[in-house]
Amino acid sequence: MKKRLLRYLNPIAQLGNRQYSLAFPLLTTASMAILLEVWAYIFADNPDAVGIFAIILFVLLIVYFAFHDGLKGGFFASLVTILYYFYIIYTRGYSGERLSSSIILTLGLGVVYLILAFIIGWLRQKIDSLLEKEANEKKRFQAIIQQLPVGIIVTDARGTIEFANKNADTILSTKVPIGFTVGEKFFVKVLDSKPSPSTQSLLAKALSTGKPVINEEFSILNKNGKKVFVEASVSPIRNSKNTIIAAAEILNDVTLQREQEKRKDDFINMASHELKTPLTSMKLYLTALKSKLPSNGDRRSLKTLESIVYQTDRLQNLVNDLLDVSRLQTGKLSFHKERLDLGEVIKDIAEELQPSIPHKIEIRQSVKKLPILADKFRINQVLANLITNAAKYSTSEKEIVIKMTRDKKTALVSVKDFGIGIEKEEQKKIFERLYQATDPQSKKYSGLGMGLFISREIIKGHRGKIWVESSKDKGSTFYFSLPLA
Ligand code: ADP
Repeated sequence: MKKRLLRYLNPIAQLGNRQYSLAFPLLTTASMAILLEVWAYIFADNPDAVGIFAIILFVLLIVYFAFHDGLKGGFFASLVTILYYFYIIYTRGYSGERLSSSIILTLGLGVVYLILAFIIGWLRQKIDSLLEKEANEKKRFQAIIQQLPVGIIVTDARGTIEFANKNADTILSTKVPIGFTVGEKFFVKVLDSKPSPSTQSLLAKALSTGKPVINEEFSILNKNGKKVFVEASVSPIRNSKNTIIAAAEILNDVTLQREQEKRKDDFINMASHELKTPLTSMKLYLTALKSKLPSNGDRRSLKTLESIVYQTDRLQNLVNDLLDVSRLQTGKLSFHKERLDLGEVIKDIAEELQPSIPHKIEIRQSVKKLPILADKFRINQVLANLITNAAKYSTSEKEIVIKMTRDKKTALVSVKDFGIGIEKEEQKKIFERLYQATDPQSKKYSGLGMGLFISREIIKGHRGKIWVESSKDKGSTFYFSLPLA
């Protein structure tokens, strides 16, 4: 109660409150006049003692009420003051010159008081309307954020949560604690996150690094004990001087997508396993059949059989790629590393592929030995993919160039073609799973967009790097580097 009264009396605390009182300035100013009169007549025993007090005290009252109650407050405080001044003139029995000069002074002061009250009262009301406008804007903005179909959490520059919408509560299955400061600990228990556990506090990360965090994923258990996958992005918000003033996090529940992806992955995994067994048997029967056909026998049958073997090989490669993608998804692709000479591996695979490729594969080796510790089968897979791609995407050209170099610690291989090339913005994406830069609908180039994804994972598994340099219509050079053994 006392606090409320003090708050009411404090004019600064009243800013933004557009309820201007009439009774408060009127009653207080009148009471002050009565008190001053009582003091002058009874305690000071001199009616003229009000003199300077009647000016100072009432100017202060007018300023106060104009600020406290706007134009209305200032106007009525001034009015009471002027009336009080006339009352003084009347009760003190002035006459002649003194009377006329007092009336002129009172009228003059009255005008000054009214102008003062008007300026201060007008300023007060202007500030109020600006504050109200801002508050309305804020409310409107909060209503929009509240109803957005994503979860939103906003913190100040120190990471203290200032605002969270209902969707954030729903997605995180908890009431987001306003006032909580995000640090290394997050306010929800994160089950796992990619790529590192530090993503637990994405807000803290974005604030400390000053960089946005884009599409990081973590999972949590909801109230029913069900695993929920959450995708989050955080932006540090800066003012015009580039200082971070806040951070905003956007949360998306991606559980449905992840479940669908898992079902698709499970299906691919199952289908490729189911296809692998009959295909292996088919290949065995075909090889047996081919060996039974005399090489100088029916040439048409032999040719047909060879095409069946070729198509079965293609099918087997596809199924193997599908299996590899599944293994990579589940982290089950393992490597059997041995000491190899990369130069030899490249020569062998080029020799093996040359008969099935119309381009001339040219090998330029500037160093003698390239010893590496690697899985021969998997490195062959990478090279075969790069060479067959180079041929596939440069049908009207005649040459593929493979170069090998080394520095102190790494071997560097490049496979260059002079074909269709790849647009700059596609160059990173082609290493993603099932991504095809060429329009898959056009069916101009066969393929499923798995080769480069598998190659990248194989090279990563050998602590190497793979990348591409390319210009549209001029050709592409794919590079990979591997640590030397
Ligand atoms: P795909 O089976 O489609 O060839 P990859 O993963 O091997 O799958 O390649 C992904 C995409 O990258 C291809 O669809 C193609 O658009 C592009 N690409 C790969 N190699 C080349 C190349 N040498 N020249 C041009 N585009 C290429």
